[in-house]
Amino acid sequence: MITVKCAAAQAKMRAAGRVVEETLQLLERNIRTGVSTKALNDLAEDFIRSKGAIPSFLGYRGFPASLCVSVNEQVVHGIPDRYRLRDGDIVSCDVGAIFQSYHGDAARTFLVGQVAEEAQKLVRVTRECFFKGLKFCRSGYRVSDISLAIQRHAESHGYGVVRALTGHGIGTSLHEDPEVPNFFSPKARMRLQPGMTLAIEPMINMGTWRIRRLDDGWTEVTEDGLPSAHYENTVLITEGEPELLTGAEERP
Ligand code: MG
Repeated sequence: MITVKCAAAQAKMRAAGRVVEETLQLLERNIRTGVSTKALNDLAEDFIRSKGAIPSFLGYRGFPASLCVSVNEQVVHGIPDRYRLRDGDIVSCDVGAIFQSYHGDAARTFLVGQVAEEAQKLVRVTRECFFKGLKFCRSGYRVSDISLAIQRHAESHGYGVVRALTGHGIGTSLHEDPEVPNFFSPKARMRLQPGMTLAIEPMINMGTWRIRRLDDGWTEVTEDGLPSAHYENTVLITEGEPELLTGAEERP
């Protein structure tokens, strides 16, 4: 079911989004060689709780952590552990927070130390894909207009667009309708209307779009072992310009 948020609900989503945004900024300041992904998780969880919010992902369908941390060939849903970041890694951090029953959801891919130019480009283009899609986050456009804009930009650089996972509506549930694929799907014909809130999240691979899940039951990795990047914000559809409920300061 698609939900349209009233002004009061939008205000709560704005507050949830602010917590998520500040958590990502805190993580960015702490990304460096030698930091374990578990330490990043604990930092994020403590910060979210200090703001009177609850981590969205902890316990979600049994997910065992508050933060998803996905390094290099890991696409999404990496489980934080003792792994320590190494020079040259790219690390995707996905944060969700619930504030007064409403969720915010956003992700960034950070660079650790000196990263190869081709991986830097992947991270840059993945972020650009989000903003290409954002242009179509307007009343009257269809979900598939967002999808196609993302796909075209990624594929123009020869990258693979993950098919098995998509963006989504968001509100009092972390995942609501509609699905927001990062590739054209004839099923995504719904028209956008003011008050809809969407998590738009390009997941872009340097090589093949194919992914597989590790035996831990969560971590998605590229089938060819090449790096993958992730960039996400929660977006409010309005009568005019879309509002970024996370990442307002990221807008180019
Ligand atoms: Mg999401």
